[in-house]
Amino acid sequence: MSAFPLPRTDLATPALLLDVAAMDRNIAAMAAFARARGLALRPHAKTHKSGEIARRQIAAGAVGICCAKLGEAEALAADGVGDIHLTSPVVTRGGIARLAALAARIRLSAVADHPEAVRALAGCGATIFVDVDPGKHRTGVTSPRAAVALAQAIAEAGLTLGGVQYYCGSEQHIARFADRQAAIAERTAYLRTVLAALAAAGFAIPVVTGAGTGTFAIDADLGVLTELQVGSYIFLDREYRDCELAGPRFEQALWVDSSVVSANTPGMVTIDAGLKSFATDAGVPVPASGTARYAFMGDEQGALIGEDLPGLAERVTLVPPHCDPTVNLYDVYHLAEGGTVTGAWPVTARGRST
Ligand code: PLP
Ligand code: MN
Repeated sequence: MSAFPLPRTDLATPALLLDVAAMDRNIAAMAAFARARGLALRPHAKTHKSGEIARRQIAAGAVGICCAKLGEAEALAADGVGDIHLTSPVVTRGGIARLAALAARIRLSAVADHPEAVRALAGCGATIFVDVDPGKHRTGVTSPRAAVALAQAIAEAGLTLGGVQYYCGSEQHIARFADRQAAIAERTAYLRTVLAALAAAGFAIPVVTGAGTGTFAIDADLGVLTELQVGSYIFLDREYRDCELAGPRFEQALWVDSSVVSANTPGMVTIDAGLKSFATDAGVPVPASGTARYAFMGDEQGALIGEDLPGLAERVTLVPPHCDPTVNLYDVYHLAEGGTVTGAWPVTARGRST
């Protein structure tokens, strides 16, 4: 017996709502862009953590997906995804054992940024990418010379060199397009020096993977990356809504629905979505309609402040400030078609951060 279809106003809140048709249009638009530019598309599943969505991306032309963590990759592989690139280094003995077990089951690649880690990966069965630090020192080798040393270590360990990963994270959300373009052009000039050093040392680099929703169109124009790791384009969020994006236009496809639980104070109401309902790293959520503004009021509640406010028990739909860490707070996506919830998809790899 299915609980669906259900009027959207009957859904228990807070709830994560997905417009599948809008998401599918986003998936198709990015796939068409990559195809037109001759680029491979390997969307980052850290955004959605969903087997169903990964399969839709692959059906639309993606070569596979990226995962941020082993646990995420294990969960999505168990859900039928057969080609995964792991974008964070795996260095512990336990992690490498899990990586090897996964590489025995699916087509798997992973990054490394230290020769010692490469030696530990010998025999793991995954193709290894040189992770290049774009300058923020999160992960990656920090010079062309270190990139060459790492490629040498990969060869000496008997591993297959898959290519180079270069993800410019902090550049993605530079609000003005021209500023973002200038920053990525400068960072790509550095990447060219790394690739030139690898070529001079005799290493073939079949894949250069990187880019996010904020920079993929710029990266495509610069012509150095061969593969796009874009993630957030499928849903968008408040952060990307406020960025001047280029390339195809994407639609907001993800929301959090909440309910007014208290309305005793003039100029504000309290809703049932607080710190446990939204990622908190990127400012506040924004109501999808109307002029009220949101303020966090603690773990379980938030305030809507303004003149045009909903009444007690009424619904409020909000655009999440940052999509991927918001998704990780929910067990399921509820599928919204207008005023009806037609089903639910599990957030397959929810919480799989190990
Ligand atoms: N690649 C890596 C390594 C990332 O960490 C991320 C997101 O943080 C992405 C790709 C996707 O970027 P975006 O969600 O901005 O499209
Ligand atoms: Mn993100």
